[in-house]
Amino acid sequence: MNAETPKTRHCHECGNENIVEGVVVTQSNYRGDVALAFTSMRIFTGSAALSADVCRKCGTVLRFYVDEPDLPWITR
Ligand SMILES: [Zn+2]
Repeated sequence: MNAETPKTRHCHECGNENIVEGVVVTQSNYRGDVALAFTSMRIFTGSAALSADVCRKCGTVLRFYVDEPDLPWITR
């Protein structure tokens, strides 16, 4: 193992390697819950878009992240 190890990602739950990266997290049309977007809506005003990496086989979300980590975040 070293820094040159190929970036092969797999689901930690089912082992599947079919991971879709950068899924947009938005608000569900159906119930107002926070949701993973499956359309191309990506613009949010005053907040950073949240992305997720999702296993296409079992639906596990491997991680949540933002594209710009170094923003003046509001914390509790
Ligand atoms: Zn999986």
